[in-house]
Amino acid sequence: MSLRMRLQPEAIGSGMTSQRVRDRLVDRLRDNGIADERVLNAIRTVPRHLFVDEALAMRAYEDTALPIGHGQTISQPWVVAKMTESLLQVAPSRVLEIGTGSGYQAAVLAALGLEVHTVERIGELLRTARKRFRQLGMNVRSKHDDGRIGWPENGPFDAILVTAGAPAVVDALTDQLAPGGRLIAPVGGATSQVLLQIDRTADGRLEQRELAPVVFVPLRSGLVD
Ligand code: SAH
Repeated sequence: MSLRMRLQPEAIGSGMTSQRVRDRLVDRLRDNGIADERVLNAIRTVPRHLFVDEALAMRAYEDTALPIGHGQTISQPWVVAKMTESLLQVAPSRVLEIGTGSGYQAAVLAALGLEVHTVERIGELLRTARKRFRQLGMNVRSKHDDGRIGWPENGPFDAILVTAGAPAVVDALTDQLAPGGRLIAPVGGATSQVLLQIDRTADGRLEQRELAPVVFVPLRSGLVD
């Protein structure tokens, strides 16, 4: 490659977000136990670099959380993959996400053909995420609200993903889980949590299982413009 070519910004940009770089992330996720090919394909397809600031685009296909402003982060790809894989096991069609953030997790769910509803408390993050959904032609329903109340008018949901940590899962959310449905949420303290999978059985009981130790930003109350 000539020096001139190497210095062309498009060439550099596309190199850092190229299919080869995305495939490398997918290989890494597979090495770390993600086996569902539908999930791996969605991660391969959804352009994660469009969900972060341009200045961070070159790091978008590293398996790491990245800052998205307002003290929030786009989740680590392995965590997105793990939550999505667990959710697909109950063959959902309607899904609720609490904590839209960058919109990346919602976009991965939409790419899998699911009907996605997502709630975010920070207006500016939600507006940016909506632009991305539009740009990618994705039909994601979203609202600016405190996600701890869920979205009762649109429930019940076959699956609920909470993407911010809290000491416990609120009843309002498990109440919006359909029979046979599954809720996945990070539960614990401010600096680390365990990813819980809670199933509503056909006869209405709740069954709980621990999936993995995780680190999410905290679930907070109240709205921000
Ligand atoms: N799923 C996101 C991860 C975002 S980080 C992604 O793929 O990028 C968690 C998000 O949850 C933050 O944007 C934060 O503002 C939001 N959040 C925190 N508490 C919330 C609440 N009570 N209701 C709705 N969103 C909340």
